[in-house]
Amino acid sequence: MHKIIIIGAGFAGLSAARRLSKCGLDLDITFLDKKEDVDFLPLIPDAIGRGLDPDLLTCRIQNLLGKKTKFVKEEATSIDFETKQVFTADSRYTYDFLLIASGSQTNFFANLEAQSYAYALNSVKDVKAVISALQKNQFEDFIICGGGYTGIEAATNLCLFCRKNGIAAKIIIIERSLEILGPLPGWMKSYARDNLKKLGIEVLLNSVVENIQSSRVVVSGGRVFEKAMLIWVPGVKTADFIQKLPVDKNPQGRIVVDEYLGFNQGCFCAGDAALFITKGNPIRMAVQFSIAEGAQTADNIIRSIKKLPLKKFQPRDLGFIIPMANNRSCGAVFGLNLKGFLPTLLHFMMCIYRSYGLRNKIGLTVNLAKALFASGNLRRRRGKC
Ligand SMILES: Cc1cc2nc3c(=O)[nH]c(=O)nc-3n(C[C@H](O)[C@H](O)[C@H](O)COP(=O)(O)OP(=O)(O)OC[C@H]3O[C@@H](n4cnc5c(N)ncnc54)[C@H](O)[C@@H]3O)c2cc1C
Repeated sequence: MHKIIIIGAGFAGLSAARRLSKCGLDLDITFLDKKEDVDFLPLIPDAIGRGLDPDLLTCRIQNLLGKKTKFVKEEATSIDFETKQVFTADSRYTYDFLLIASGSQTNFFANLEAQSYAYALNSVKDVKAVISALQKNQFEDFIICGGGYTGIEAATNLCLFCRKNGIAAKIIIIERSLEILGPLPGWMKSYARDNLKKLGIEVLLNSVVENIQSSRVVVSGGRVFEKAMLIWVPGVKTADFIQKLPVDKNPQGRIVVDEYLGFNQGCFCAGDAALFITKGNPIRMAVQFSIAEGAQTADNIIRSIKKLPLKKFQPRDLGFIIPMANNRSCGAVFGLNLKGFLPTLLHFMMCIYRSYGLRNKIGLTVNLAKALFASGNLRRRRGKC
């Protein structure tokens, strides 16, 4: 019987597991994840402002796997490609085929103060910590380090939270480069900038967080915030064990994969952990590509077992949306540029569709419908945070 190990039960790993469990072959599949639950990341920022119940964004991994798939709650710590073994703190697992689908994690860029005092936004646990700190109402300012899409979403959600709770706090996005939203089209950047301005959210470009001492934050130019909540979203990197692997990686630690999503004898990689180049550019870290890559790696494992030629991965880009909590989102979907309420609605519909488990889908539909209605009312009443 062929032994398959999948590391990481996110979008990519679960998509691969679904395909493998239906292929009709007698396989010995072991799923490793360091957590018992899978988190639905795209709605994490909405738990802050829109008041989504964070428990609806999580689901027991075991409940999503077929009976034939063995789940082990352990963290992969290293891999020996020679002997085909994956190591965890307590065990070792041998494989014939390996899929690395361990996603990405917050990159603190070795900043120990940020690691101790800043709030990350990369899991349900993270967002629960943010919500619990917000409920203590001890901050005068909110600093978001990183002007990518997560930073923008976090800022607009904090703004919504402040409005709902009558808090008059400053919200400031600190961005190292000269523009927010990195490589996205110019019209989206200016639309988002305009929206942030309307909400009273300040954007400091070409700036960094220079010093952090508990809730005292100093940013470029010597501006000091004495009682600030610092949200840390300047970028991500892959899992720690990947950093040590003797394979080609980019600076974020994404594993360079070939056109079949393979990178070593019997080894494949999918999702955020994989660096797949298409039309000369690395593919975005996104749910749609993670799911497609997961399914494709499963197909290529099945083809390898059946001694059939492997299939090339040909990604289809359906587009993307930058959701903003006052329902003035923007995005490009099926080649159409969208602004305002429609992309917000499409984002939520896609999230409900992709979320895990029927209970969560129903709960999220009710929560989001209420949230959309409430945010419309708030927008009519007040303009700024
Ligand atoms: C706040 C936020 C909002 C986002 N919004 C969107 C959006 O609107 N649209 C969109 O397309 N994308 C969005 N993304 C990106 C999207 O969530 C990722 O691209 C996607 O989750 C990647 O899927 P994955 O399967 O590669 O990894 P993940 O979903 O991250 O899953 C990886 C799994 O691997 C496990 N793991 C990690 N290391 C180990 C280890 N050493 N051993 C065992 N298990 C391990 C983790 O516990 C996790 O369960 C967002 C991300 C964030 C953080």
